[in-house]
Amino acid sequence: MTALERMRDILFAPKAVCMGCRTVKGADEGWLCAKCYASLQPLEIRKQHKDVLCLQCGEAVIGERCPKCLKKTEKIIALSAYEYITPIDRIIHAFKYSGAYKIGEWMAGEMVRPLKAEAEFTGFVITFVPMHFTRRLARGYNQSEVLARKLSEKTNLPVQGLLERRRYTIKQARLSGEKRRRNLTGAIYAKGEMTGKRVILIDDVRTTGATASECARALRNAGAAEVVVLTFSRALGGRARTKWRTRREKTPRQ
Ligand SMILES: [Zn+2]
Ligand SMILES: [Zn+2]
Repeated sequence: MTALERMRDILFAPKAVCMGCRTVKGADEGWLCAKCYASLQPLEIRKQHKDVLCLQCGEAVIGERCPKCLKKTEKIIALSAYEYITPIDRIIHAFKYSGAYKIGEWMAGEMVRPLKAEAEFTGFVITFVPMHFTRRLARGYNQSEVLARKLSEKTNLPVQGLLERRRYTIKQARLSGEKRRRNLTGAIYAKGEMTGKRVILIDDVRTTGATASECARALRNAGAAEVVVLTFSRALGGRARTKWRTRREKTPRQ
């Protein structure tokens, strides 16, 4: 190798920036550097931690079920790959707003694990949280649909657009709690009969669960037999979160 060639290799070696810590890393390392990747703690191990994560919706909790799930008459199982903290939040932001479409491929791959850890889901149909067509037009894609389609390729479960958003709603991220629920009332509808359908509903992030609940309600009202919610990430709330995080740090990554 000549000096010129060596110089060329150094200058033009494939490099990329880690989405978590912004350091330069090798381009073959994926979206995160090795250090950030090692810091990720999958949520699907919740079954081993059923005293700190709700067995049903995955919320941080002291005991087996959170107060919300204990109260609800409609039981929805909610699964997620990761907690919504750095660097996961940065990955989602890039996926949603920078048009970094390809990240969806990796995200969907990560979503296979919580699904497989829970059950086989044979006979289920994958669907996604719908986006109002004007917002879809502005962004160019519905991020939940991208994840659903990629997940379908990876699991061989069919994907169908079962829901539609008829009313334009302001972004959930700008609202809190009860307002989120009211913002969605009457906005989401099932496209026709869903009798007997068993559905896996896909979204990128679960915060209060208001969006997923509204979608599940629409599917159930149209006759769906079962709805399981699967998100790439979920926010954990309350004091129990600290307990989960302490536990998580002591658990070797699997
Ligand atoms: Zn990093
Ligand atoms: Zn719960």
